[in-house]
Amino acid sequence: MIDEQALVKRVYEVMKRQLGNTQGHLRKVLIHYDSSTDSFDSAKINELWQEIAIEPVFESSHIEIHAESPNGRCLLCNQDFELDSTTLRCPHCHCEQFKVIHDPPMIETYEMDEAAEPI
Ligand SMILES: [Zn+2]
Repeated sequence: MIDEQALVKRVYEVMKRQLGNTQGHLRKVLIHYDSSTDSFDSAKINELWQEIAIEPVFESSHIEIHAESPNGRCLLCNQDFELDSTTLRCPHCHCEQFKVIHDPPMIETYEMDEAAEPI
């Protein structure tokens, strides 16, 4: 589990590499995280983002975070499926044995300003 600061720094590093010499402005970054292992404060994340992401390309951009349920993986048929509190068995083969897969927070996508030139 990581905190807001670590997450924002990670996002910043990835986006900086990604947008290096891009003209135009980032509008927002979308991030997914596993609601069973992490919990983030959106306001705090954006406060940190304003402090860290100071290059012109990040001007007036923000981070949007989405909590997601973890996935389960069936031990019998090896299929992945979304877990919630009511999941007791694999929806594919109805096996009752599965493991929970915890994904680290990750960038799902990002949006640039429409005025930006195509890369
Ligand atoms: Zn199964």
